[in-house]
Amino acid sequence: MSVFDSPSFDGHELVHFEADSGTGLRTIIAIHSTALGPACGGCRLWNYQSSHAALEDVLRLSRGMSYKNALAGIPLGGGKAVILAAAEKKTPDLMRAFGGIVESLDGRYITAEDVGVTVEDMQFVAEKTRYVHGLPNEHGAGGDPSPYTAQGVYLGMKAALKYRFNQSDFEGIKVLVQGVGSVGYNLCKLLHASGARVFVTDINDCKLQRVRSELAVEIVPVDTFLTQEVDIFSPCAMGAVLNDATIPALKAQIVAGGANNQLAKPEHGEMLHERGILYAPDYVINAGGIINIWSEMEQLPSESVCARVARIYDTTLQIFEAADARGLASDQVADEMAEAVIRSKAS
Ligand code: NAD
Repeated sequence: MSVFDSPSFDGHELVHFEADSGTGLRTIIAIHSTALGPACGGCRLWNYQSSHAALEDVLRLSRGMSYKNALAGIPLGGGKAVILAAAEKKTPDLMRAFGGIVESLDGRYITAEDVGVTVEDMQFVAEKTRYVHGLPNEHGAGGDPSPYTAQGVYLGMKAALKYRFNQSDFEGIKVLVQGVGSVGYNLCKLLHASGARVFVTDINDCKLQRVRSELAVEIVPVDTFLTQEVDIFSPCAMGAVLNDATIPALKAQIVAGGANNQLAKPEHGEMLHERGILYAPDYVINAGGIINIWSEMEQLPSESVCARVARIYDTTLQIFEAADARGLASDQVADEMAEAVIRSKAS
């Protein structure tokens, strides 16, 4: 199937494939829209089962970035990169080669961290390109974006709690966090400090031990996350976790997490809605990281990042209210709002 025929193509402005034989790098950079500004989104390093799977992932992720940036109110377009490699193949030279490719796009795409890529990796990328963020920054903002992402997810969760249970705190609330990597770990800290009862699951035992050694969390097996009796399910691992198989089995009344592309297909938003499960659209509540990256570009202090991240609470509530008023799924309303912002700026 050609890239143009992919269901996820959705009018992408550019899809750039490049390989570097010296380092073994294979990368795809997708730019969905530059209507609001240069395309900005993280770089994911993942051992994909096929190049087709990598292409689908990068297309869905870059479109998500267009929508995320639009609703976060930041003047950036949507783009994303994937590196097709196993974690153990990641080397400084591979990241430098990736930086060279980003540079060759002349600023149409700006990169940062995503799954499998760290702040340290971004320093190798920065040796070859100016178009990289998520770096250590003397102005206060910058660095690892995941604490800000977790803060936004936490606020989106609070908006869902308010809307569904008319409750302003986490007393008596049980939350299951799937994936305790950068975002999930920081989210657990916030939830724990707020008095929630926190359950965690991860395929990586080291990540589980880290969170358990610091916080009073309960570990549940990876394959029983669906049937756990909790109020909130928080996907913070990989995408497509909300699908035909999982939605009918979900026990939680709220889904609010940091993972990108949680809905396997657009119709799964409607499926959640029909089941009466309140879904906080992923790209709305996980925008804290990109807000931090944009603030790094603008050299804004960390207080202004926090103020902008705090708006995620209001945006999420606004989406729930509009969805209820119109009898629509929350993700559909969020998509419409984001598309209206992008359309208003497209010439
Ligand atoms: P990460 O790699 O640090 O953490 C992901 C964790 O999920 C890992 O611990 C991994 O072992 C675990 N995991 C993978 N598959 C799993 C499974 N099937 N069941 C349970 N655990 C599983 O990545 P991250 O930066 O924390 O990002 C997590 C998600 O949030 C991704 O979807 C990412 O795109 C999204 N996101 C991240 C940021 C950010 O600031 N890092 C911003 C926006 C969105």
